[in-house]
Amino acid sequence: MKTETLYDKDAFAKNFEARVISCDEITSGDKKLFKVVLDATLFFPEQGGQSSDVGNIDAAEVLDVQIENDVIYHYCTNGFLSGEMVTGEIDWTHRFNNMQQHTGEHIFTGIAHNMYGAENVGFHLSDNTVTLDLDTELTEEQIREVEYKANLVIAKDVKVYAYYPQPSVLETIDYRSKKEIEGDVRLVEIEGTDICACCAPHVRTTGQVGLLKVVSFEKYKGGTRVFILCGLRALEDYGRKIELLQQSYQTLNCKEEEIPEKIKGLLDNNKQLKYDISETKAKALMEQIEKYPGDVADITIFTEGLDAKNMRDGVNALVEKHSGLCAIFSGDDEEGYNFVIGSSTRDCSAIAAGLREMLKAKGGGSKQMAQGNVMATKCEIERVL
Ligand SMILES: [Zn+2]
Repeated sequence: MKTETLYDKDAFAKNFEARVISCDEITSGDKKLFKVVLDATLFFPEQGGQSSDVGNIDAAEVLDVQIENDVIYHYCTNGFLSGEMVTGEIDWTHRFNNMQQHTGEHIFTGIAHNMYGAENVGFHLSDNTVTLDLDTELTEEQIREVEYKANLVIAKDVKVYAYYPQPSVLETIDYRSKKEIEGDVRLVEIEGTDICACCAPHVRTTGQVGLLKVVSFEKYKGGTRVFILCGLRALEDYGRKIELLQQSYQTLNCKEEEIPEKIKGLLDNNKQLKYDISETKAKALMEQIEKYPGDVADITIFTEGLDAKNMRDGVNALVEKHSGLCAIFSGDDEEGYNFVIGSSTRDCSAIAAGLREMLKAKGGGSKQMAQGNVMATKCEIERVL
């Protein structure tokens, strides 16, 4: 027999009584669970991109609800006897939250469809994300317009109906549907805004959605993926964002509206400091290079914090005075070294090849100059050179 879907008839019922049809013990990971089939249920199973209701059946926790081969299974922490009468209670906070998100999705997509002909090609509602996929690429401005109009529909507090029209009536109705539906079609109508085929529970009037906020959007498979939050989830998100802002302006010691400018100032300052440090290091390197006596042929300098340009300038200065191999390694034994080597008499590309071969270095160059990086210690590098 088929489980009677009570959630279909009354989306606001929280408790129900039912008879146990079957109960099978299973192991899930290291846990024992029970797959329970009832003759009736208020638990909405996972379907159409929406995660399932949770709650209790007597003392058992209902962790998940799935449809498998047309049968609704409640995954419970305790088992029951077949034929036993039980009382179920859905987690109402969780359910109402889902209904707010889900109805919000209908409103947003309905308006996007009316305004831009966008079709909904995907929907995902979990405990932390709500996304809807449209087959049309929308601009930021268009998305904000749909968002604003959705909130006007919410403020108007119009009715949300669910019904099964007769097939002859259904033919005359223009409704949205993600796929061809077998059997009776359940329509969800938002007065004056949208008619869509859907099997999930929804709120009674749009006012119960409270608020719809687009938190982000991105291009997705030639269309647009929109991340929305509705009602209490939107409120929670707003609270979290205010907290982030507060922490930011307190740390930056500025007013809220000054945060972007303040961050830009810090980044600019940081860039300038990096430049100053680089200049100072380059100057110190040149002073060091000048101190080497000219009759020494090979010079290898180990240092840290030099950028590629400073290293090349240093090697060029060395090559002018020293006829052998001139090398600068910048880094440390833990993180490895960047290197530039140059010579007027020796083949640098061959030396770089040696470093690649013996120390798995990366990089290369010409006969006169080569550069790269190597994950090795100073001792290992000196041995190879
Ligand atoms: Zn729906």
